[in-house]
Amino acid sequence: MEAAGINFEKYDDIPVEASGQGVPEPITTFKNPPLDDHLIGNIELAGYKVPTPVQKYSIPIVMSGRDLMACAQTGSGKTGGFLFPILSQAFQTGPSAAAPQQGGFARQRKAYPTSLILAPTRELVSQIYDEARKFAYRSWVRPCVVYGGADIGSQLRQIERGCDLLVATPGRLVDLIERGRISLANIKYLVLDEADRMLDMGFEPQIRRIVEGEDMPPTANRQTLMFSATFPRDIQMLARDFLREYVFLSVGRVGSTSENITQKIEYVEDPDKRSVLLDILHTHGAGLTLIFVETKRMADSLSDFLLNQGFPATSIHGDRTQRERERALDMFRTGRCPILVATAVAARGLDIPNVKHVVNYDLPTDIDDYVHRIGRTGRAGNTGISTAFFNRGNRGVVRDLIDLLKEANQEVPAFLETIAREGGGFSGGGGARGGRSGGRGRGSSAMKDVRSYGGGQRPAYAGGMGMGGGGMGGGYGPPSGGMGMGGGGYGGGYGNGGSGPGANSWW
Ligand code: AMP
Repeated sequence: MEAAGINFEKYDDIPVEASGQGVPEPITTFKNPPLDDHLIGNIELAGYKVPTPVQKYSIPIVMSGRDLMACAQTGSGKTGGFLFPILSQAFQTGPSAAAPQQGGFARQRKAYPTSLILAPTRELVSQIYDEARKFAYRSWVRPCVVYGGADIGSQLRQIERGCDLLVATPGRLVDLIERGRISLANIKYLVLDEADRMLDMGFEPQIRRIVEGEDMPPTANRQTLMFSATFPRDIQMLARDFLREYVFLSVGRVGSTSENITQKIEYVEDPDKRSVLLDILHTHGAGLTLIFVETKRMADSLSDFLLNQGFPATSIHGDRTQRERERALDMFRTGRCPILVATAVAARGLDIPNVKHVVNYDLPTDIDDYVHRIGRTGRAGNTGISTAFFNRGNRGVVRDLIDLLKEANQEVPAFLETIAREGGGFSGGGGARGGRSGGRGRGSSAMKDVRSYGGGQRPAYAGGMGMGGGGMGGGYGPPSGGMGMGGGGYGGGYGNGGSGPGANSWW
């Protein structure tokens, strides 16, 4: 079960910053301070040798009983970041102490999980569930997973057999609560994973109902951990309402900031895209290739075209049924269909290991989306290639793209500079950039204790997690100034002057 191809040393490139009062020291190994022995055994079985940066911080933070708001991407090891401390403490506490109302191993129609993990999609909850099973191996903790768009009967039967750690999409969980099959009264740990994605998908009413409108213990009687790639105002509101004196953790993007990913931008007019793509596929044949297109129709027509040209391709997008998406993803993961054409829906939250090449056949209009997409390659220290087709239709992102390429020490093709000079993009005053993320700086003296990790001198791009600029009123971000986060990338160019929600684009 060795985690294939992971270059552990590269993890040290990832900048991490923790702020809040009394932030515990990060750990350096899984054994110090000791996680539960049984958990350490399971971590060894999984082939994980050292904690990733997010794990180094989150494990002691969670184990010391603190709430956590973490800005971290898929690929950073954030799943272990919350599962390890939760499972470790669950193993140490034992079933009866953990679930007094349920009476230990009692089996009954209504389940009383002690840990609840909410995540936006079936794919993501399934991945978390798989991880949970791996690390709860041979323990009293029984993980369960529920999600919408699938038969509820088998999920009910699974829950009836015992459910200590529940991984759920918000809609299906509300359904189960309404049916009286799940009680949240014993929840000790609440995790919201990919919180920004859940809000993008319109899950806020369900999330608020689950956290505030049912029998969930109040903030003082549970530990709440939120993970989100970005920290816009709506996420700050959730953090304010759901968390208590939380530690704020910011983890740089994996890969995209460094030379892990070779980013190429090619000038391709729309009618030429297909033939250029064929050339690329002929040249970079080996390895998994993920191709992003703008529309669902394009995803289907391009994968049909590739199939006709003899390339084993499949597609994944919002119009395909759950079963079709799962099958396509499975074909891709296993390499039976090493070419996957996807709309942005598939970009976030999926744990697709070892994508060798990401092709932005159609560039997104938001540079954050570009970063998300290319983040599918060069994951966890592996190297990857990204190719983007650019033409004048994409001039809206030209300035951000140039900035990003420069920050990542990538070649900037001359045509990009030319098009930028033609007056393509507008970056906002003084080069400061807004974005979906909203500002994180607060500039308050409440943050007594700030630690930073790694970083180095290379500017790091955090995909709209700007740290400079003014602060958001209610945010608990670190003070502005870009402390120890690798210089210019955080402190200056990506700082957000405190733009409000809805500031999705800035050109
Ligand atoms: P995540 O960000 O949680 O989706 O994790 C990304 C990938 O890194 C997954 O394939 C994990 O199995 C792997 N991973 C997580 N933690 C570690 C670790 N400490 N050592 C090696 N691989 C890890």
